[in-house]
Amino acid sequence: MTPPVVLTIAGSDSGGGAGIQADLKTFAALGAFGTSVITAITAQNTLGVTAVHSVPVENVAAQLDAVLSDLPVAAVKVGMISDAAVAKLIAERVDDLPNLVVDPVLVATAGSRLGEAAVVGVLTAYPCVLTPNRHEAGALLGRRVETTEEMVSAAAELAALGARAVVVTGSEMAVDVLHHAGETTLLRGEPVATVNNHGSGCTFSSAIAVRLARGDAVPDAVAAAKDYVNRGLRGGSSWRLGAGPGPLDH
Ligand code: PLP
Repeated sequence: MTPPVVLTIAGSDSGGGAGIQADLKTFAALGAFGTSVITAITAQNTLGVTAVHSVPVENVAAQLDAVLSDLPVAAVKVGMISDAAVAKLIAERVDDLPNLVVDPVLVATAGSRLGEAAVVGVLTAYPCVLTPNRHEAGALLGRRVETTEEMVSAAAELAALGARAVVVTGSEMAVDVLHHAGETTLLRGEPVATVNNHGSGCTFSSAIAVRLARGDAVPDAVAAAKDYVNRGLRGGSSWRLGAGPGPLDH
C-alpha cells in the first residue's frame, strides 16, 4: 500500500541527531514517506553547533513548490525557522499545509540559538498543533514556565492565539500538558534516565504529524507520539555516540 506522505520544513543537523535527520528517521520508522524542505544548514555534533547557514527564502519557496506541486502531502511538521521571511512564507502558504504541526525551535540541546521567539511566534496565530517545550512556551509568552501549573496556563494561553492544539512538554517529557478543544489533559509518562535526548522534540512533533496524516484525532496522535519518543529515549539510553548528549533511538 502507498504510504502517507509527510513533509518536514526544518533545519539540517549534520550530527544526525535532530532536525531534518530526526524527522526523516521518525517518518520512516512510523511507515510514512518523508519529504523535506530545508530551511537552514547547521554544522553540528553532539557537543554543539559551530555554524548556521539560513537557506535563502527563494530556495525554500522553490523546495516547497516542488514538493507540494507533485506529492500528496497529508501532514506537515515545521521545525527550525531562522529567517523571518521563511516564517512569513509558511504563513502565506498555510492553506496548502494540511495537518500542520509547529515545533517552535529556539535553542539547540547544547545551548546554541537556532531561532527567535518573535520569528517563530508568527505561526502561533495559525491552526497548527503547537509543540513547545517549557522553555519555548516561556519564550513565546515572555515569562517563566517551569511548574505543571505554569505549563497548564501557558498551554491555554497559547491555544487562545489560534492554534488547533498546544502540547507543552516537560523535562524528559515525563509530564506534558495538552490543550485541545477547550480541555486540558495532563499526559504522564515514565521518566527515562538518559543523557541521550538530542532530537526528542523534533521526533515528537514528527511523530504527531505522521499520526495526523493517518487520520488520528489530535489527542490520539499526541499520545502515540509521546509513547514513540519514550521508547526511543529508552532504546538509546545506553548508546555512546560522541562526547556530548547523544540522540535517541528511532
Ligand atoms: N532543529 C535543528 C536543526 C537542531 O539542530 C535542533 C537541535 O539541536 C533542533 C531542531 C531541536 O532539537 P530537539 O529536538 O533536541 O529539541
